[in-house]
Amino acid sequence: MTLDAALAERIRRSPKAELHVHIEGTLEPELIFRLAQRNQVKLPYASVDALRQAYAFTDLQSFLDIYYAGASVLQTEEDFFDMTMAYVQRAVADNVRHAEIFFDPQTHTARGVDIEIVIDGIADALAQARTQYDFSSRMILCFLRHLSEEDAFATLEAALPYRDRFVGVGLDSSERGNPPEKFARVFARARELGLHLVAHAGEEGPAQYVADALDILHVERIDHGVRAIDDEALVQRLARERIALTVCPLSNQKLKVYPDLRDHSLKRLLDAGVAVTLHSDDPAYFGGYMNANWEAVFEALPLDAADAHQLARNSFEASFLSPMHKAEYLAEVDHFWQSALPTQPAAA
Ligand SMILES: [Zn+2]
Repeated sequence: MTLDAALAERIRRSPKAELHVHIEGTLEPELIFRLAQRNQVKLPYASVDALRQAYAFTDLQSFLDIYYAGASVLQTEEDFFDMTMAYVQRAVADNVRHAEIFFDPQTHTARGVDIEIVIDGIADALAQARTQYDFSSRMILCFLRHLSEEDAFATLEAALPYRDRFVGVGLDSSERGNPPEKFARVFARARELGLHLVAHAGEEGPAQYVADALDILHVERIDHGVRAIDDEALVQRLARERIALTVCPLSNQKLKVYPDLRDHSLKRLLDAGVAVTLHSDDPAYFGGYMNANWEAVFEALPLDAADAHQLARNSFEASFLSPMHKAEYLAEVDHFWQSALPTQPAAA
């Protein structure tokens, strides 16, 4: 399919919310090299180009290996600030108005970087983004699921002095062999603390992990969740309960969840009434930020302006913004798309 130029332009300009982006996954090779130099970290790659070439990973695990190597250059608050500000500028350029940003403390604390450095660096950049770009945001602390639940508990405890900086917890990293129930107790604790709950599920793992994330972890949104399509009853439940799936098409393509985006479940989920949203995941590694993801999926699937309007609405509706802020953004989205849509012929 070829994406109509006028629709492509509307999509680029539409207000959007980003609900699935890992801040460590926004580290571009150029910035990795700059930070490595600043901190005198020796990288196992000779040049920016050599690092880019290493991005030819084939699945989640081979991606994660490079991802953790890249994150090793982050040492100071300034590094976390610079990484976050670089992301914000790209998001603003794509008309992202609001972002709920994942960060992985364990990737850093395991290297001896204090959690305060991580949280302060990111939070300071987001505070500046609010005044400089009118860019609203929230932070979500993610547990690495290949590590133990004890480690997740320790991370949550270490983060509590900064409780006012993040609104929720999530679960990321290697899904296979690390089912939701492994983290049942730490999610229960986070729930007691009044934190929002999300989890990656049904990316490489089965549809059952999506159901388990809902029933055992009590999450409010599912990150990815594209495998839900394998379970008809689950799809109906997601639609009925308005559980959002934060879908990341270029990630799914690059990690071979859907090597060909024409096979992607997004349109089928959307048509079944599921609150699908579109995001960039680890944009530096997967070949594009928000608009690149939107365009890729509109190129590959029979999606139209009404779908784009719905996807933009879903992104704000599924956010953790206050009802008042949601309503403001939704009014903005509706105004934008209603003025964009061609006049519909009267029904026969
Ligand atoms: Zn993710």
